[in-house]
Amino acid sequence: MEMMEMMKRDRDCGSLTKADIGVKATLNGWVHRKRDHGGVFFINLRDRYGVTQTVVDTAATPELAETAASLRNEYCVAVSGVVRARPGAMVNPAMPTGEIEIVAENIVILNKCDVLPFQIDDETNANEDLRLTYRYLDLRSEGMQRRIRLRSEVSFAVREWMTVRGFYEIETPTFIKSTPEGARDYLVPSRIHAGKFYALPQSPQLYKQLLMAGGFDKYFQIARCYRDEDARGDRQPEFTQIDIEMSFVSRDDVLAMTEGLMGHVFKKTLDIDLPSQFRRLTWKEAMESYGTDKPDLRFGMELRDFSLFVETSEQESGGFTAFKDALAAGGAVKALVVKSGAAYSRKQIEELEAHAKIYKAKGMAWMKVSAGGALEGGVSKFFIAQHKEITQELGAEAGDLILIVADANRRIANTALGAVRSKLGKDLKLADPKQFAFVWIVDFPLFEWNDEEQHWEAAHHLFSYPQERFHNMLESDPGAVLGDLYDLVLNGYELASGSIRIHDPVLQKRIFKIAGISEEDCEKKFGFLTTAFKYGAPPHGGIAPGLDRLVMLMAGESSIKEVIAFPKNTFAASPMDDCPSEVEQKQLDDLHLAVKN
Ligand code: ASP
Repeated sequence: MEMMEMMKRDRDCGSLTKADIGVKATLNGWVHRKRDHGGVFFINLRDRYGVTQTVVDTAATPELAETAASLRNEYCVAVSGVVRARPGAMVNPAMPTGEIEIVAENIVILNKCDVLPFQIDDETNANEDLRLTYRYLDLRSEGMQRRIRLRSEVSFAVREWMTVRGFYEIETPTFIKSTPEGARDYLVPSRIHAGKFYALPQSPQLYKQLLMAGGFDKYFQIARCYRDEDARGDRQPEFTQIDIEMSFVSRDDVLAMTEGLMGHVFKKTLDIDLPSQFRRLTWKEAMESYGTDKPDLRFGMELRDFSLFVETSEQESGGFTAFKDALAAGGAVKALVVKSGAAYSRKQIEELEAHAKIYKAKGMAWMKVSAGGALEGGVSKFFIAQHKEITQELGAEAGDLILIVADANRRIANTALGAVRSKLGKDLKLADPKQFAFVWIVDFPLFEWNDEEQHWEAAHHLFSYPQERFHNMLESDPGAVLGDLYDLVLNGYELASGSIRIHDPVLQKRIFKIAGISEEDCEKKFGFLTTAFKYGAPPHGGIAPGLDRLVMLMAGESSIKEVIAFPKNTFAASPMDDCPSEVEQKQLDDLHLAVKN
């Protein structure tokens, strides 16, 4: 019999317990740790399921002892022997297999392991490029094993919930027409059609809408999306969405479906009960209270309107008119209370101000609430007379710090102070890492003004439905139009975006036109969609939660690379297989391509 056949595992490394004492078992796995206690070897064997201690003791044959002595970490081995109870002092209650060990009778080395570039621990502390170069080793760590398992379980729970509710999982093509959705497309040159290109989908957006036109009224897909964006932070060139579309629905149907899906996924994989409905904020409320459309609601610290105190303040007398000027120009004055922040040094406050300036604030004012409840320091002298009303309105108490940003542009006042709120949330660890705070952001503006290119563009994408009450003012006041758009936010991250879609070809063309897309371009890029809408396309809408982000947050991580088996590094490259790489001249010739130097 072949060695592997003889030594094939009949148990895994996580399953043996007291109940198995006296049983003969064969395990296959990796040498996790080896200890040599003067001729007695303790070899911890690891596989996906756990770790089991095996022992080669003094009664072992010389061959067995020699094999045991030669083992190194990460050798792949087969061990067979009899399960016995560990002596009392050696019981490890932290390990599921901690009450037993296997007395090895036979050990076969299935494969040796070179000197390791880093140790396989619960979490690897090697730097990222080293981890990615040897990702297959990194994947053996307990943390990566746990996260990839969670990802698989989440995908299964998604499929289970959607399928039971009558959704079909339908694949859409990976080679599509280039119809940029906001980011740059990854292009695939065609060999058969010289000079022509396929694009990899930024999302299955148009195809899922065409599936609705095709009569599949409930669709989902765990879909790979590709976006050629500048390497920055936590972006990946490819990522995965739980792509969903439904016909004959309104916004609340999509929200309720998503709440049900999230509830099922969290219950099934983490045994966490989510509320049956998530909180909702309008985009405007989110911007006014948190200065962002993805607020972390695990802590409060809301932005407050300070303008009511500006009118009656003593500003001119001190030559300080910043607040009044901001309001006179149609802007805003917003305040934030930092609990117990009166202890902050000038330097700390300046650091916060520098952060606000990154978000275009011109400055940040401050004052402190003294032990007696009066205002002191910073700009307090302009507000002495109103100190009671101010502290009461802002909910500020003795020992608190009040930060104020005024700007002629309301959006800047909000986002800059909102950024300070987020920073303080992180610095002061205000958010409970175990909490999952979902919130819907609804009623987004449909268009955003692109200052660089001087035209309106779609805030989400071009296919979102403008709320009906704005249809008669689309062209005359695009900035005021709200869309049937929604984002699902979790702990400060945008987890999903979606919208009710346009299904009327005439309305779709109006939107293209406002977004500055010429009739000709429209026809060339999106003609197939507007044509499809002419053949009785149903009203429809959908959403697309990001799978990577969802699993990342569920796993308590802050990088999606931690939940992707083979991610690219920050420079969109894979140090393991050296991708992207050059190709042979023959391949370029076949594709009718020449590389410019
Ligand atoms: N396709 C959209 C996106 O990728 C999501 C959606 O509207 O369903 O953001």
